[in-house]
Amino acid sequence: CGIIGVLGQHEVAPTLVEALKRLEYRGYDSAGIATVNNGVLERRRAVGKLVNLSDLLVHQPLAGKSGIGHTRWATHGAPTTDNAHPHQAGPVAVVHNGIIENFRELRKELADHGINFVTETDTETVALLTQHYMLQGMSPTEAAEKTISRLDGAFALAFLFEGETDLMIAARKGSPLAIGHGADEMYIGSDAIALAPLTNRITYLEEGDRAVLTRNSLNIWDAEGHQVGREMRVIEIDT
Ligand code: GLU
Repeated sequence: CGIIGVLGQHEVAPTLVEALKRLEYRGYDSAGIATVNNGVLERRRAVGKLVNLSDLLVHQPLAGKSGIGHTRWATHGAPTTDNAHPHQAGPVAVVHNGIIENFRELRKELADHGINFVTETDTETVALLTQHYMLQGMSPTEAAEKTISRLDGAFALAFLFEGETDLMIAARKGSPLAIGHGADEMYIGSDAIALAPLTNRITYLEEGDRAVLTRNSLNIWDAEGHQVGREMRVIEIDT
């Protein structure tokens, strides 16, 4: 339902939770964040209100200067902690808005490779497929790209990778996604409102776009695989 991603200069967990609060208006049943700290990918998730996630983070803090977060409005799978995002499969964590229509076919294909599922969600398929391609030797970017090309449905996605403290990947098809530009920081948000305290410099992804972000760069490819320039706008939003 709500997506946030931050490649930051400071500890990112409080920023992620704060941004998720700004997305509360969209409604949600559970929430979670993942960070990369010294290369290690870790996540925390909780059912119910964001305060439950905040409480969990008090007892089990997450360090790291890059991370992704999500508020979930369940479409596939009950609103449980296991089904909450981010979904992680080995070295990749994914947050997702929308629905992957062909997840059953993809699930079957993965099952034929002996890959097991631990959740009932359509989203887990995205993480498992990306991991599968990485195990075949693809880089994180190649694996995410290949995965995205196989997905049908309406979605906005953000990917974070183990061992990659300066990389996030975003994709948009049928669900809006905004990229925010900071000072040696880069952000992903399901809307600009989530990013308002961080920046007012926004690049909106267009239908079918895929973006590769570092703290200092944003590269975007369109649905045909051509690298494209998308305008950066300075927007006015009340914080
Ligand atoms: N279809 C996904 C799920 O049920 C994402 C739902 C959402 O947009 O929050 O987990």
